[in-house]
Amino acid sequence: MRRITVRCDAMRGVQVRPAQDVELLLRDDTGRRVKRRYTIRHARPEAGELELDVLLHGAGPGAKWGASVQRGDTVEFQGPRGKLELRSAPAHLLVGDESAIPAIAAICAALPENEPALAIVEIQDADDRMAIAAETHWIERGATAPGGAQLLTAALHGIDLPAGSHGYLMGETRAMVALRTVLESRGVEHDAIFVKGYWNLGRPGRA
Ligand SMILES: Cc1cc2nc3c(=O)[nH]c(=O)nc-3n(C[C@H](O)[C@H](O)[C@H](O)COP(=O)(O)OP(=O)(O)OC[C@H]3O[C@@H](n4cnc5c(N)ncnc54)[C@H](O)[C@@H]3O)c2cc1C
Repeated sequence: MRRITVRCDAMRGVQVRPAQDVELLLRDDTGRRVKRRYTIRHARPEAGELELDVLLHGAGPGAKWGASVQRGDTVEFQGPRGKLELRSAPAHLLVGDESAIPAIAAICAALPENEPALAIVEIQDADDRMAIAAETHWIERGATAPGGAQLLTAALHGIDLPAGSHGYLMGETRAMVALRTVLESRGVEHDAIFVKGYWNLGRPGRA
């Protein structure tokens, strides 16, 4: 993960909601324009600054940009985007992989103190841990390939879920859809679950 600050005059005074993102307009290896979305981890509206945490997971255009961008470079983006609206609940359960750590951290930081949150985050190993303002269960996959639902499914079966909990699932698209069924089987209402695919196993981009 590399933290990158983007400064933009048009973002001065713009209030960003938790887990909103920007869509960067990048180029792939062939020079074709591609879009990649990154969560706004922190915003400083007074300075027009956005902090993005970019996962350096491979050689896709997003990861390459994150690894190579230098101070003073320019990047085009659209946003802020994202429709998540935080609603009051007796408890919040946030589940995802490394790509969702910025969103999970932003949501947990925004929740009222009297609404407890539990984060369950699948990571490669302990080095991937980042600060999240909530009780966090880190699930280290080690030699297991990323993008599956098995480890998070097992973790979800082992937790207490207070009645009326809200769930947030963010990560590999098919894994998150599978986890929605798991959460529903644990009694979380369909409409109380926010699901967002962040990447697609074996395919570039999200769609
Ligand atoms: C709303 C939203 C917010 C997001 N916020 C963030 C964020 O804050 N930080 C962040 O790092 N990402 C975030 N993502 C995910 C990021 O946009 C995707 O991971 C993106 O596809 C990365 O692009 P890439 O060009 O590096 O790889 P791609 O060209 O998309 O993929 C190349 C290859 O890498 C694989 N791959 C992609 N992502 C992963 C991964 N996480 N682990 C393992 N393999 C992978 C693909 O399956 C493909 O085979 C967000 C996505 C969305 C939709």
